[in-house]
Amino acid sequence: MTKRDDFSPGTKKTLALRAAYFCSNPNCLKLTVGPSSVSTKALTTGHAAHIHAASKLGPRYKPSQSAEERKSIENAIWLCRECGVIIDSDECGYSDVQLRKWKADHEEMVSEIRTEGYSRSLELLRSGRMEPQIAKQIIASMEDRRALWVTFDAEFPDRVRQSLDELRYRFTSIRGELQDGTPLDGILLSMTKTILSFFKTVESSDLRTLRCDSGNLEWRQFSDALATLRKSIGVQIANLASAYDIAMSDDLKYITPHNVEEWHE
Ligand SMILES: [Zn+2]
Repeated sequence: MTKRDDFSPGTKKTLALRAAYFCSNPNCLKLTVGPSSVSTKALTTGHAAHIHAASKLGPRYKPSQSAEERKSIENAIWLCRECGVIIDSDECGYSDVQLRKWKADHEEMVSEIRTEGYSRSLELLRSGRMEPQIAKQIIASMEDRRALWVTFDAEFPDRVRQSLDELRYRFTSIRGELQDGTPLDGILLSMTKTILSFFKTVESSDLRTLRCDSGNLEWRQFSDALATLRKSIGVQIANLASAYDIAMSDDLKYITPHNVEEWHE
């Protein structure tokens, strides 16, 4: 049997916690833990995947790595099982650079929504439900952008930029009605930051001429950045909707985290 450099249980646990148990693929919204139908059990469908393979025959194997490096957390990315299978069966499609970017973006998103300011805002909203009309306005302004969330409109990156710009201005104008530092203002500020960080990632590309082409690095960067944005906005809008008990349309639900499904071995 080929020698494998597997991750230790401790490494897997830390990796999963750093990802908040979400799959790190920006195009996937799966939460990898949840309750089992057996009330005393929990389900996990997550998987610590190797960025460079654990053994010689695996994908993206890097001979120059030491065994220590190969089983270190730096060489791991947390994915749901489906995504784990996809990245390992199409190794040309997923480079180590891209996987590391996925991991970094995902962990950044998790830290963003775990900052003290954000979680305190959310806590206050849950207990007080201040300014419910404004919360509804925020959700409605997201519903208006359905093309962005659903059909992706990725054929026209410049339209994506325009639409996000409009959304950002909309947030700024709603913030004008709120006092600085109030919980809803905190949530809007956080979503604005998410949009700005998308702009920063794609700023070197000319979005007017960029078109769908999986062989083009710039296109892939754009497409991953958009997926990361959708995922982060999805998590934040789901938090807001649940704090106020506001129902979201199916379109919007589409970008919010999905619960884990039963996994059949
Ligand atoms: Zn996944």
